[in-house]
Amino acid sequence: MDEKNKVSKELKEKLFLKRKNGYTRISSEDEKASFAFADDYKAFLDTAKTEREAVEEALRLLKAKGFTEYKKGMKLKAGDKVYRNNRGKAVLMAVIGTAPIEEGVRLCAAHIDSPRLDLKQNPLYEDNELALFKTHYYGGIKKYQWTTIPMALHGVIIKADGSKVSVSIGEDENDPVFCVTDLLPHLATEQMTRTATKLIKGEDLNLLIGSIPFREDETSEAVKLNILNLLFEKYGITEADFISSELEAVPAFKARDIGFDRSLIGGYGHDDRCCSYPALRATLDCDAPVHTAVTVLTDKEETGSDGNTGLCSSYLEYFIHDLAESLGAKGRDVLSASECLSADVNAAFDPTYPEVNERNNCAYINKGVCITKYTGARGKSGTSDASAEFAGRIRRLMDSREVIWQTGELGKVDAGGGGTVAAYIANLDVDTIDMGVPVLSMHAPFEVISKLDLYMAYKAFAAFIAD
Ligand code: MN
Ligand code: MN
Repeated sequence: MDEKNKVSKELKEKLFLKRKNGYTRISSEDEKASFAFADDYKAFLDTAKTEREAVEEALRLLKAKGFTEYKKGMKLKAGDKVYRNNRGKAVLMAVIGTAPIEEGVRLCAAHIDSPRLDLKQNPLYEDNELALFKTHYYGGIKKYQWTTIPMALHGVIIKADGSKVSVSIGEDENDPVFCVTDLLPHLATEQMTRTATKLIKGEDLNLLIGSIPFREDETSEAVKLNILNLLFEKYGITEADFISSELEAVPAFKARDIGFDRSLIGGYGHDDRCCSYPALRATLDCDAPVHTAVTVLTDKEETGSDGNTGLCSSYLEYFIHDLAESLGAKGRDVLSASECLSADVNAAFDPTYPEVNERNNCAYINKGVCITKYTGARGKSGTSDASAEFAGRIRRLMDSREVIWQTGELGKVDAGGGGTVAAYIANLDVDTIDMGVPVLSMHAPFEVISKLDLYMAYKAFAAFIAD
């Protein structure tokens, strides 16, 4: 009996797919490094809550590492480090490799926009002597999660004379914050009978911003007038200037460790900063790669990647073409030989909601960075579906660099679904696969990830760039 068990144990060891917790496999150096990396990451989360702020912070880090602004037509050689800022809302960066660029680039693509409440273009109103901002939510959210939490306001306003004002209120401890109110349970009898999609309606997401009336005015809208007067004194803006503004209400709290063991991070915007930060760091840390490393931190993923700062536009393609030209090659030859990691998050298995996942094919906290061959919904629609050959290549690469990884898809077949930028890049004739960090409570104001998985994303992107 014992001998029989021994044989089956050995065979299982040899033949079964291993899906063990990463903490049973991680080296002590990597474990230590993962906690240090998490501290840097939390600082990034707190500094870069919007796509514009993520670009600013990325540019600061890139310049500190010697990256210079790419100019079309400039001559490039191996080891050169360049970036291109796309309208302050997306950023591209490249480290020129030693191999001819016709051999393709190693492309990492992550997004820096996150779900939030955008102000409407005529947002300010007064109702029963309270001042409020109308909002239009950005990305897919469960609206009820965005009420009764402290919110900060970030963004830019272009004034009538064309000058730009930057706004960031609610991050400093001494700043005021804003919030969306909700009904008290005592009077919510009707509200609580609604389905969750209508529990809080889009037009209910109004941000409370003040209540003191302008003192010399006993006519109507004195509270609104007082707010406008304060805004004029602070920013020199009038109500019409909101028309040319992008103001985003985001959770005002900072990223925090979660758990007695501090193994997890709670914060706003893990999707997709937990991939964009590791991709950025891997690029910053890379010196002389064989293949040219290109990383793009893009905008507009959460609304479908349209617009000139989203990856359905041509801005990435133009950058590759321009780099190719600078190195005497053809852009299309470079693209056809290139490989891409579409660095985006996946859903982590939640023991409280096990019914939406199929346990053999979903991502788990602490099992490492997740490789996803295809995304999409209902019969794989909207996916690029990486080839078995490319999945095999990436798998070999991860194993050779001691990256702890797992595989998983987004939920049960027919449970729903979602996409990433992978398909848009694959459509450029680039071998592309999704890889990212599993997230709990995705798209909530306070999302959760694991430090081990985050660090493994960094190791994965670094391995890919260096290969
Ligand atoms: Mn995402
Ligand atoms: Mn998302």
